[in-house]
Amino acid sequence: MSYWRNEIKPLLDAETGTIFKQAPIRVTLAFPNRYSVGMASLGYQVIYRMFNQEEGVACERAFLPEDPEAFARAGQTIPTVESGRPAGDCQLFAMSVSFELDLTNIIRTLDLSGMHPLREERDENDPIVMIGGPFTSSNPYPLTPFADLIIIGDGEQIVPVVSEALRESVTREDFFDLIDGMPGVFIPSRHVHEPKWATAPKELLPAYSQIVTPHSELSNMFLVEAQRGCPRPCTFCLARTMYGPNRNNGGDELLERIPDWATKVGLVGAALSDFPHTKYVGRQLTERGIKLGVSSIRADTVDEELATILKAGGLRTFTVASDAPSERLRRWLKKGITTEDLLKTAQISRDLGFSGLKVYMMIGLGPENDDDITELISFTKDLAKVNRIALGISPFVPKRHTPHFADPFAGVKTIEGRLKRIQKELRTTAELRNVSAKWAWVESVIARGGPEVGMAAYAIYKDESIGAWKKALDEIGWNDEFETNATSIELPPGRYVSRHEETLAV
Ligand code: SF4
Repeated sequence: MSYWRNEIKPLLDAETGTIFKQAPIRVTLAFPNRYSVGMASLGYQVIYRMFNQEEGVACERAFLPEDPEAFARAGQTIPTVESGRPAGDCQLFAMSVSFELDLTNIIRTLDLSGMHPLREERDENDPIVMIGGPFTSSNPYPLTPFADLIIIGDGEQIVPVVSEALRESVTREDFFDLIDGMPGVFIPSRHVHEPKWATAPKELLPAYSQIVTPHSELSNMFLVEAQRGCPRPCTFCLARTMYGPNRNNGGDELLERIPDWATKVGLVGAALSDFPHTKYVGRQLTERGIKLGVSSIRADTVDEELATILKAGGLRTFTVASDAPSERLRRWLKKGITTEDLLKTAQISRDLGFSGLKVYMMIGLGPENDDDITELISFTKDLAKVNRIALGISPFVPKRHTPHFADPFAGVKTIEGRLKRIQKELRTTAELRNVSAKWAWVESVIARGGPEVGMAAYAIYKDESIGAWKKALDEIGWNDEFETNATSIELPPGRYVSRHEETLAV
C-alpha cells in the first residue's frame, strides 16, 4: 500500500474525471507502460468509461511502474489507481496495447500483477486476461501464449458483449461459450485464426477523454476523435484497414463533447486535414480561448486559413509527414505528397511565424537506393532555407494488413549506413531524431511473427536487450542477421504479393 500512497495517490489527486464505483464484477484495465503514456491513449480512456457505464461492473486502472525491475526486486504487486487493491484481484484483467515493442511489457504487467503470464499456467481461479488495442488488430499471434481473449477491432463494440457475458456466466467456459463467434472475439484456446474485426457503429462515436491530468504525456489535454479510419490509399499505413471504414463525426457533435472546463483540446484522427470540419471546430475553440493540439497534417492540404487557426490555437511548430525520402518513393507508397507541397508548407509556416516545421520520414523502403537518400538530403537543405527543420526518421517496418506484408525489412546494416550518411550531411542543417534500426528490427519481427515470437519475449522479459532478443530469436529460427525476409504467419494465397520488386513509375 505504501507504493500506492507514495506514487499513485498523488497522480490520482491531480486527475479530473476519475470514476469511483463499486460493483459485484471487478474489471482491471491495465496499460502495459507508464501512467503518463497510458493516460495519453484515447482508446484506453474510452474503454475505462464504457466498462464503468455497465450495470454491475466496476473498472479500475493499473499501470506498469516507472522501474519494473526495482519494483519486482522489492516483491511488490501492482495496485489499481482508484482504490489501491491488487490489480490481479478481479474477474476480468483487460489490457490495451498500442505498440509491438510493448510485448515484453505485457508479460511484465501480468507478472507484477501476481498472475502467471502464460495462459496455460493459469486456471479458473485467475482472472480472464483480455488484450485489445491497435497491436492486437495488427497482429494478435504473438499474444496467444498470454491472452485468454484477444479483441480484434473497435473495443467500443466489445465492452457491452463482454460485460453481458460476465454477468451471465458462472464458469470461464460459460463465459467463452457466450462470446464465441462474435466479431472481434479471438479465443486462443479455441480458435486458430483471427476473426472478422469488430466495427463500432457511428452511434458509439466520437471517442472522447474521460480523465484529464497534468501527468499525461499530453498534459491537461482533453482528446476528442474527429474521424476513425482514413479514405486515403497510402500502402504502408494501417489507418485505412485497422480502423475500419472511414467514419467522420460532425463538427457540432465534437463540440458538444468538450466540457466547459477544458482549456486544451486535442483533435484525434488519422488524416485530420481531410476531416471536413477541422477549420470550423478549430475556429470555435480558439474563439473560446481554448488551446489546440493536432497530430500531423497532410502537406498537400495545408493552407493559410488552416495554419492561422492552428497558430491561434497555440501551435508553435507545424508537423507534416513526407514518409519517403524521394518523390518516386512517395509515389510507390501512394502517399500523394510532393516536394513542392513540403516547400509550400515550410513557407506558410515561416510566413505565419511558426518556429519550425517537423517532418516525419521513413527510410529502408523496398526499392530505396542511394539516389533517394541524396534527394532527401537535398530537399531538406531547401526546406531549411525557409524555416527551422526537425526531421524524425524511422526505419520502415512492413505490417500485416497492408500490401507490404510480404516485403523484407531493409536490414540493420543498410539502415544504419543510410542514417550515418544523413547525419553526416544534415548535422548542421536540421535537428535529427531517429528510431534505432535494431529496435525497428525487433518490431518488424513482432509485427509479423507468431506465438513463437511471444515465447521468445517470455524467455527474455526479465533481462531485455537487443542481444537477448537476437539470441532468443536465433533459437526459434529467425537467424537472419538482423534482417526479416520472411514471416512466420502463413500468407493467404493470392492476397499478399511482395511489392519489393515492383517496377517504379518514375
Ligand atoms: S498515411 Fe495518413 S493519409 Fe495516408 S492512409 Fe495513413 S492516415 Fe491516411
